[in-house]
Amino acid sequence: MQEALYEGRLFYLKAYLDTVEDRKSELGKLKKRADKGVFQCPYCNDSLILKAGDIREEHFSHRYSRSCEISEASETYYQQTKRESKLHSVMKEIIYDELKNQEKINEDMLVDYGYIAKAKEKWRYYPDIIVKNGDDEIAITILTNVTANKDGKLVKQIRERNRYYKNKGMQTIWFVENAEMSIDIDHQVIHLWEAELDIAIKTKEDLEWENVLKHLPIEESLFKLFDYHHRKTPEKFDVRSLYYVHSTETEIVFTVHRFIVDQMEYPFRAFALNEGYQMSMSKALLTKKEIQLSDPEVEEKNRELFKEIVRQKALEKKSRKETVIPEQQQTSYTPTQTARKSLQRLSSSEQEMFPLLDELLQSSIFDYVQSASIISAKELSVYLNP
Ligand SMILES: [Zn+2]
Repeated sequence: MQEALYEGRLFYLKAYLDTVEDRKSELGKLKKRADKGVFQCPYCNDSLILKAGDIREEHFSHRYSRSCEISEASETYYQQTKRESKLHSVMKEIIYDELKNQEKINEDMLVDYGYIAKAKEKWRYYPDIIVKNGDDEIAITILTNVTANKDGKLVKQIRERNRYYKNKGMQTIWFVENAEMSIDIDHQVIHLWEAELDIAIKTKEDLEWENVLKHLPIEESLFKLFDYHHRKTPEKFDVRSLYYVHSTETEIVFTVHRFIVDQMEYPFRAFALNEGYQMSMSKALLTKKEIQLSDPEVEEKNRELFKEIVRQKALEKKSRKETVIPEQQQTSYTPTQTARKSLQRLSSSEQEMFPLLDELLQSSIFDYVQSASIISAKELSVYLNP
């Protein structure tokens, strides 16, 4: 284990050694102190010895190879979170403190570190924090360093942990370090790591959004209305949310992102319902029965705004269509004539690009090019041979 009680305070071995210049001589000093029995297990109060071999990194160990449940769980947790950045433990402590404050005023609530709460059950993975609220248990995990580990291994690990907690009957909440966020509201899209898609959750607010989407007064598909680049429109909108966290010098701030699930394969992307918004930690972590994670007032406003944008867009499209119709009505050209007309509109160099195509085919291609906002060879061939 890495932690010990030293002179009445928690002492973290590796974190401490990372700050010293002469590691070897410092280790000598610490070993001497350990032999004199000054380091104690924070969980069972046994005295600890310091081990510094060649194979395993330096660690504390119970005397005579005895051990206690929590220290074993702590070791499992330490191995599991080793890949996280330094910010991980900072953010974890801040979130823990905030929830602990709420615990004081909410008598049904119990807050603990995951490895301490579940040490007896010897879990394979431990969330950073577990909040027990009546019968509900919530597993909270903070995720940093996702970019540096974008290989499939991390995705697998996260997926496994997520499932593991769910199988234990827990709700899961993942807070992702804000540096991972990639949203492009001009294209109405949020780009995701596969891991992010995996840990996005469906909250009460997401269900409210789904309800709004179900009853939008529009005839065409929502994705088309927003010119959102997509392959197919889903039959049912699946709204989920992601929670990013970042720390400023004085506090940590949460950002909520809500989207409609779309592309479930690389490159992972989804329809962003809005730009997302920030909120303070106390608002995000406010609990009654469950952790709030959102600002209900902002959500209500955002939904109204979204409905208004949809109405505007539908109106724009409709008026554009109406201005086009009279022209179409007077033209009763054959496809060949249409093709010729289109060809006349092209420059001579553009005309040379199509010398070998027969006119009917040309006409169809022009129709396609004019109707599609994004040209795809695959879709064109489907268009030509439906
Ligand atoms: Zn112990």
